[in-house]
Amino acid sequence: MNILAATNGPVKPRTALVQGMLWMAIYLALVVAPLVVLLAGTPPASRGFWRELSAALGYAGLAMMGVQFALTARFRRAAAPFGIDMLYYFHRTVSLMAAVIIAAHIIILFSIDPRNLALLNVLKAPWRARAAIAAFTGLSVLLTASLFRRQIGISYEGWRRWHGMLAMAAVVLALVHVELVSHYIETPWKRILWTGYSIFWTGLLVHVRIVRPWSQLRHPYVVESVLPERGSAWTVSIRPEGHHGFTFQPGQFAWLTAWNSPFAVEEHPFSFSSSAKQNTGLAFTIKELGDFTRRVRDMVPGQRVYLDGPYGAFTIDRYHAPGYVFIAGGVGITPMMSMLRTLADRSDRTPVHLFYANKLWEDVTFREEIDALKTRLRLSVTHVLEAPPAGWAGESGFVTREVLDRRLPAERRSLEYFVCGPDPMREAVEKALYRLGVPLTQVHAERFNLV
Ligand SMILES: Cc1cc2nc3c(=O)[nH]c(=O)nc-3n(C[C@H](O)[C@H](O)[C@H](O)COP(=O)(O)OP(=O)(O)OC[C@H]3O[C@@H](n4cnc5c(N)ncnc54)[C@H](O)[C@@H]3O)c2cc1C
Repeated sequence: MNILAATNGPVKPRTALVQGMLWMAIYLALVVAPLVVLLAGTPPASRGFWRELSAALGYAGLAMMGVQFALTARFRRAAAPFGIDMLYYFHRTVSLMAAVIIAAHIIILFSIDPRNLALLNVLKAPWRARAAIAAFTGLSVLLTASLFRRQIGISYEGWRRWHGMLAMAAVVLALVHVELVSHYIETPWKRILWTGYSIFWTGLLVHVRIVRPWSQLRHPYVVESVLPERGSAWTVSIRPEGHHGFTFQPGQFAWLTAWNSPFAVEEHPFSFSSSAKQNTGLAFTIKELGDFTRRVRDMVPGQRVYLDGPYGAFTIDRYHAPGYVFIAGGVGITPMMSMLRTLADRSDRTPVHLFYANKLWEDVTFREEIDALKTRLRLSVTHVLEAPPAGWAGESGFVTREVLDRRLPAERRSLEYFVCGPDPMREAVEKALYRLGVPLTQVHAERFNLV
């Protein structure tokens, strides 16, 4: 059964660029659509510049919030040109901008007529104002919890559960507010268009919360083995149960659900560590870190798990190059391992330079296999150890500009770079590469820390 053979060919950078621009255009159209619809035809009599500006800001802010559902809905085609981490970064930035725009909408209303402040009295305020207050309160809690989750001490899982529900509530309440104010949607066809727009967002939610989990439930996987690795990590091998699975590109990842149904929204992203060309199963290598990852060792063969994937643009299959440089820190080796194993299975002789940073020699995950892969690949490996053993003759400390300068080949500017590791390492490496003259368009990074 050929369940996982990677048949996806390399994506041409120009194709990715065109696709990216197309999705940006769709994004802008969705944000601007309500304004165009509401101002089309004969607009209602003006209520003064500031009031109209405030209304426009309110609609724009709401549209931006609504489009967030599309941004985080993980539509593979839309995410492919950018990478999921970029989409989440964009989602965060746009959320802040939307909140500022919505705050401006409210502040302007209060400034032009302070009597509007009476609307804050929820006991006496009309329902349109109550809906607005509830929506803005939800949005404020949402943003505060997202920006200061760690400082407040909210677990990732708890935050995630509430984040989705609050976002949904805030947008629905804002839609109710618009319906009740109904200033710009008085004519029947405008009301129809606005209702259609609202149904579109609701449909997205239904897709994300019901259709997709349902599809995962119908396409389960089973655990085949759970094996210990160096560095407090476990390799979990799984295979599809009763279906053909999916193909992926080496370096990509999937969201894994275990001990739960996909409807529970507790899922964790992990890069595939297995070869994309193998046709026997998939594997993730998971480092013990928190609640979920510490339980991975307790998985048992035959256990049912669920996957949502593949995702990610961090893959050699998107970039033709005369050579690749992989720079990994700790468990950041997993996507590189998939790429190395895939290159070996493809008998690909493209030169690969691996820089692999760890604290201790004993904890270097996949140490022996990486060494063995040198016989199947044109692979050079530079281990960089923070606390090397006595007599260590290799590089020590961190992956610095000096280390890279010493070990990279002369044609370094023509290579494609893949960096995955803790944020400080990733940032330092990106800076070092920039100083070494490597064009940043050739440096690709995977963030294991989305939030
Ligand atoms: C694209 C990607 C690929 C990854 N690949 C690997 C891999 O191959 N091997 C590996 O060991 N780890 C990988 N990770 C990291 C892994 O997802 C987290 O370590 C894991 O989810 C932590 O969960 P926890 O409950 O054990 O820890 P917690 O203590 O609950 O979380 C620790 C931190 O991990 C992050 N995190 C927790 N849960 C999630 C979640 N559901 N979604 C996103 N981030 C979360 C949060 O920033 C949190 O602060 C990857 C992460 C990403 C984003």
